[in-house]
Amino acid sequence: MQILVVNCGSSSVKAEVIDVTSGKRIAVMSVDRISEPEPKVKFSGSTEVLTCQGSGHENALAFAFPLLLEKIDKSQLKGVGHRIVHGGKIFDEPVVITEEVEKQIEGLFSLAPLHNPINLLGVRIAKKYFPDVPHVAVFDTAYHSTIPPRAKNYALPKNLIQKHDIERYGFHGTSHQYVAEQAAKFLETDLHDLRLISCHLGNGASVCAIEYGQSVETSMGMTPLEGLVMGTRSGDIDAGVVTYLMEKEGKTWQEISDMLNKESGLKGIAGTNDMRDLEERAAEGDIDAQLAIDMFVHRLRKYIGAYAAVMGGVDAIIFTAGIGENSASLRYKVVQKLGFLRAILDEQKNKMLKFVGVDWVEDISASNSKCKILVVKTDEQLSIAEQTAKVIKESKFKGQPPRSIPIAVSARHVHLTQESVEILFGKGYQLTVQKPLSQPGQFACNEMVTLVGPKNKIEKVRILGPTRPKDQVEISRTDEFFLGIDAPIRESGHTEGSPGLLLIGPAGQLELKEGVICAWRHIHMHPDDAEYFGVEDKDIVEVRVENQERSLTFGNVLIRVSDKFKLEMHIDTDEANAAELNQGAEGALIHTGAGGLLTKKKVQ
Ligand code: ADP
Repeated sequence: MQILVVNCGSSSVKAEVIDVTSGKRIAVMSVDRISEPEPKVKFSGSTEVLTCQGSGHENALAFAFPLLLEKIDKSQLKGVGHRIVHGGKIFDEPVVITEEVEKQIEGLFSLAPLHNPINLLGVRIAKKYFPDVPHVAVFDTAYHSTIPPRAKNYALPKNLIQKHDIERYGFHGTSHQYVAEQAAKFLETDLHDLRLISCHLGNGASVCAIEYGQSVETSMGMTPLEGLVMGTRSGDIDAGVVTYLMEKEGKTWQEISDMLNKESGLKGIAGTNDMRDLEERAAEGDIDAQLAIDMFVHRLRKYIGAYAAVMGGVDAIIFTAGIGENSASLRYKVVQKLGFLRAILDEQKNKMLKFVGVDWVEDISASNSKCKILVVKTDEQLSIAEQTAKVIKESKFKGQPPRSIPIAVSARHVHLTQESVEILFGKGYQLTVQKPLSQPGQFACNEMVTLVGPKNKIEKVRILGPTRPKDQVEISRTDEFFLGIDAPIRESGHTEGSPGLLLIGPAGQLELKEGVICAWRHIHMHPDDAEYFGVEDKDIVEVRVENQERSLTFGNVLIRVSDKFKLEMHIDTDEANAAELNQGAEGALIHTGAGGLLTKKKVQ
């Protein structure tokens, strides 16, 4: 499934078409200097910079979106995901953007005046160029909706807080969520068993305490101004300073806001917000640069300590975003005094760390470090694409009852080549239809054969038509023991190296050299079903089957996708007996999102 991710900011727009299954970028576009007379458009894979005439988002995107459309196969595009900075109290998860949702986002303009109006403008323009697919809003704040009241509230008069919806909303949620999930995967531990501190250190920077899978504290507040020392934002400051400056400097609230957001932080202290420049200058003895870095590090370390206290411990500290991923010296400084949390750095690993590829997590903690120190490459665009795809799938099936998969019990049977049919039933013999099977074109035949194994024989085993290019006998585990054959569990059609046996028909005998298998339990599905469940051909899944008396899970179920298939799970008679299922039973799948297949891995 391909998703276009649009990140519409005041001076630039980033748009990426991402294949959600592989994470591959199909096209990446950036539009910069939007408020200037000649905005610039670039595409990845090309050094060409295209110039658009006339400033403003509508103008620039009217030029850029058609170019992006030329680079993709529009029929593959299933939706557009938009980064929306503020979801207020309304949105605690991504949503399909209806007119009602647009109005609600508009209602949140006052909470994020610098971001939400531009984000929504991006939605409205994109809807004109991509009218046929759903548009989804993914909110930076949504991940933090789990922060408890004691951490969410500001100690201000209650009536004011309520009147103006003042509380800690937190930002960078998409990034914190993504890196936490990546870290959990890397540590091979369930996210719900981990206490993590995620440090997103870019131009904007925030820390997040993720306790057993939920954000419980974060350093940004009602606006992205609170918390760490950032590129141009002050982060935490005594509110008294604001009122003092208004009085002493005769500044308006707008001037103060601009000063705190655009002229403070690293830039305020040392004249630049670029950490690379600051590190170079600091090494040459520049005192302002040294102070700016020291303040950045001190504030961050203070937060890490505080969040470890909030969670009663920490299992891993994550560094991410421009500074977190790239600056070994900054990471070194921050963790220097964290030995009391049993977080010990491997200095060599930290120093040698170079980013490669996308899916990237590196452990830079020493072998005796109880708390892991990880560097994780964030990918907010991919995360937005994934969340968008999930919402689209779910919304498609909203209101519909959970989808169940019919279960067919597959009795022992035989598939034959035309040549074998003629050996067993006579020259020129054609199989005859007893009844059609549920898979289109397949049928049970009137014809039957006897299977003869080293130990016993089984009579009246039905042939399934039509004829195939290879002979294949499918039996159950119990049949194996009865016949005295050791048949492998195989996908249908994969008979190489399997044992043979003797088939007896009315007109002759056939000594099979190979072809006896125990069929791997599997689900036949059409590509539309595969899209619904979010699986692909050859995926291996688990399926929960609810019986009247009990529920049980079938593991190791193979997915087989073909446009000739109808949705049906096939198990053999042993399995059906064990599960007390009869022909015609249905497996109600546990619903995880739209799908319901529990876990997924690929056939190696
Ligand atoms: P944002 O997305 O918030 O604009 P980024 O995540 O791109 O920010 O991070 C930008 C910051 O990362 C800048 O301060 C930049 O100097 C810093 N940075 C990038 N590479 C390095 C590096 N190799 N060493 C130190 N800082 C770096």
